[in-house]
Amino acid sequence: MICGSMATQCHHIIFRSQGGLSDLRNLACLCTDCHYQAHGVFAKEIRRNLLKEVEERTKRYEEN
Ligand SMILES: [Zn+2]
Repeated sequence: MICGSMATQCHHIIFRSQGGLSDLRNLACLCTDCHYQAHGVFAKEIRRNLLKEVEERTKRYEEN
């Protein structure tokens, strides 16, 4: 979630075309607008932030 709106779409943080899995750690629930942004001009910046989230999720997952 980015903007706080109701999420309606699943975004692959590491794109499927780049080998990203449909694993919960690689998915972000976004509203239609944020999903559009995640593939738009700010894609790199959004992706950088989401990748940090994936790292944290993976760390938490491995600790449990
Ligand atoms: Zn949004």
